[in-house]
Amino acid sequence: MISIVVPVYNEEENIIPLFEKLKKVIKKEYEIIFVDDGSFDKSYEILKKIHSENENIKCIKFSRNFGKTAALMAGFETAKGDIIVTIDADLQNDPQDIPKMVEMLNKYDAVSGWRYNRKDPFISKKLPSAISNKLSRWLTGLKIHDFNCGLKAYRKECLDDIELYGEMHRYIPAILAWKGYKIGEVKVKHYPRKYGKSKYGVKRLARGLFDLINFKFWAGYSTRPLHLFGGVGLIMFIAGFLIDLYLVFLKILYGEKLSERPLLLLGTLLMIMGFQIFMTGFLAEIMIRNYYSSSNKKIYVIKEKLE
Ligand code: UDP
Ligand code: MG
Repeated sequence: MISIVVPVYNEEENIIPLFEKLKKVIKKEYEIIFVDDGSFDKSYEILKKIHSENENIKCIKFSRNFGKTAALMAGFETAKGDIIVTIDADLQNDPQDIPKMVEMLNKYDAVSGWRYNRKDPFISKKLPSAISNKLSRWLTGLKIHDFNCGLKAYRKECLDDIELYGEMHRYIPAILAWKGYKIGEVKVKHYPRKYGKSKYGVKRLARGLFDLINFKFWAGYSTRPLHLFGGVGLIMFIAGFLIDLYLVFLKILYGEKLSERPLLLLGTLLMIMGFQIFMTGFLAEIMIRNYYSSSNKKIYVIKEKLE
């Protein structure tokens, strides 16, 4: 069965046409999960109507706008299918691309859409997105062209214990690749937004950068934070120590007045800061241990087990 997850935030004109297209395209058994992310237009009334007139429709309504990441998570948790497809509600994606993506799941664990001929404004969308894709490719090591396409398909198991927060939905493929899943990419159609407004602007670039740093830290050090903090802290401490040691020699050998040496301040600062960064690493270790032992989370992913 295929579960189609659709995040909806003020998309009243788009829902019905999208639903009609989806119905036509999906030949297998399916369910559609609409997640209304706090819309204040008529979106939810329309969803309720679709729900009452059709089978296999689930609707979730948030109490307020929690963001696309939260909407997708709620959809994933509700989904019963062994394949999960996400698609934007705004008709910019084409449901006709779904069958080939599902087909590709025979070879891959997840397939991400590539809007190779993207129909969005250049300054507010395509330019920031080009920069962000380049950065993402570089920092995550995943060589796909389009991280933020709304149209993606997954095998259920890879989303089973995925954790998303903030606006991390764009990095789902990167998180999955880091977990060892195979990610494919396929060109998909893209259309200009006809109805309603885009919910994201240039601001997203800065936020995306923080999310990326967050991902990078998580991917590299989430199970061993002391390796990062300890390393940086130790280097700073040693540098400070050597600087101050040098000054002590100057004082003993040449009787230099240290109160007139700004270097003293630098050396001392480096030692104090280095020590504190090191201790932050310890704290992080304690937190990580708590986290893994209290939440039943695994530090590994098993692909197959023969018993
Ligand atoms: N969306 C959402 N919550 C939000 C913002 C957006 O559920 O806080 C949905 C929105 O309704 C659409 C999809 O996420 O279905 C993509 O949003 P949008 O089209 O505004 O992004 P863009 O295509 O402009 O990048
Ligand atoms: Mg859109």
